[in-house]
Amino acid sequence: MADPLANSYYAASVDRPAPHPALEGQLSADVCVVGGGFTGLSAALACAEAGLDTVLLEAEVAGFGASGRNGGQLIPGLNKSGPELVAMLGKAHAEALYRLALSARERVHDRIARHAIDCDLRAGHFHVAAKPAHFAAFAEECAFVNRLLGYEDAVLVPPAEVSRYLAVDGYHGGIYVQSGGHFHPLKYALGLARAAEAAGVRLFEHSRVTSVADGVPATVRTATGKVRAGRVILACDAMMADLSPDAGRFTMPVLNYNIATEPLGEERARALIPSGAAVSDSRFVLNYFRISADNRLIFAGGEKYTPKPPADIAGFVRPHMLRLFPQLADARIDYAWGGAVGITRNRLPQFGQRGNLLFAHGFSGLGALLTTLAGDLLAEAVQGKRDRFDLFARIPHRPFPGGKLLRTPLYVLGMAYAAASDRL
Ligand SMILES: Cc1cc2nc3c(=O)[nH]c(=O)nc-3n(C[C@H](O)[C@H](O)[C@H](O)COP(=O)(O)OP(=O)(O)OC[C@H]3O[C@@H](n4cnc5c(N)ncnc54)[C@H](O)[C@@H]3O)c2cc1C
Repeated sequence: MADPLANSYYAASVDRPAPHPALEGQLSADVCVVGGGFTGLSAALACAEAGLDTVLLEAEVAGFGASGRNGGQLIPGLNKSGPELVAMLGKAHAEALYRLALSARERVHDRIARHAIDCDLRAGHFHVAAKPAHFAAFAEECAFVNRLLGYEDAVLVPPAEVSRYLAVDGYHGGIYVQSGGHFHPLKYALGLARAAEAAGVRLFEHSRVTSVADGVPATVRTATGKVRAGRVILACDAMMADLSPDAGRFTMPVLNYNIATEPLGEERARALIPSGAAVSDSRFVLNYFRISADNRLIFAGGEKYTPKPPADIAGFVRPHMLRLFPQLADARIDYAWGGAVGITRNRLPQFGQRGNLLFAHGFSGLGALLTTLAGDLLAEAVQGKRDRFDLFARIPHRPFPGGKLLRTPLYVLGMAYAAASDRL
């Protein structure tokens, strides 16, 4: 992994299995999955469980992308509030979609239990309001999920009670969700890969797909081989544009960075986040953080919208951590890493089908739960069962403006403007 962003706490705290072989020569399969992150692994596993002969091609190694380096926050729901979704999609579609999205949490827990994936799973997510107006919106959201969906897990926490959950001053209340949580994402990805293999998936690593041609069958090529398959699932998220410029116009990679402190000891870690929950805030450029199984603070804050990562990731993120946790000034930073978040313009994932090619991408920073569900829905769609898949596929999406050359500069400008709202 010659990747300057890959020095993660996660990579350092797993035992990777021996690499899988690269694809050599020609194969046939019912389904060929491109991409070995949560989406592709979950889709391949669900296809194999349905009796389909399935091949998975991963450019690097399983869990190499966002799935193996994310914040590990398990946040039930979608990147839009209930009322926003109703305004966008109408009541019936919005409620059915929201219910389906919430079911992703059970799906991830099922997978973890069924395949005995030891991934440091912990309960609780706490979303805190950076401004009083955000707290008012939280109250509306709580009412939506509690009353309309009968979802009783979301508890509105008034400003005076924040300190019971989190030892940071200055937040204006929050929503605590007991069914949210956090996990070690790379352990989960490797657990899914193991389960997929056990179910019969033929997994190839270091097998970057260079072209996909639709047809009957479709043809998927790497530098050293090709797969002919009845259906192809594209699960490349932030990297989709490289393989499929057409679908890739709808997503944009945004680099995001994490750091992990040295182990702080149980007492000191507990004093930072007494609830033990994963925490995220409502700033446009958000901070999110949690305590790892070995009592490190894993923290992300600050975003750079330019495609080039900072030379010193720890130096870039640490000031954001110290603004919230000045008591960690003496804590060593052991790991600093980053990854590309695939975002869409409306921050909802895009699912779709073009001929025999199916895809789901653009989870916009909220993919740790949704991607496992996405894999199930892709596998259902491959088998012609479209009801649940279509709840996502019917969400309208617009491409990023500017064509290939201009879209990144235009985006940087737009995001810099939006980020300024945090300072108002
Ligand atoms: C730093 C960071 C923090 C995040 N934090 C959170 C969080 O706390 N909570 C949350 O819910 N979400 C979070 N996310 C988002 C979440 O990680 C993603 O939504 C999710 O992992 C996407 O999974 P995926 O399988 O679709 O894509 P990925 O995990 O990116 O997998 C795509 C795979 O496709 C492979 N690939 C690409 N092109 C090719 C090709 N041509 N041929 C073969 N293989 C190819 C890549 O190597 C990669 O392994 C975060 C993301 C990042 C980057």
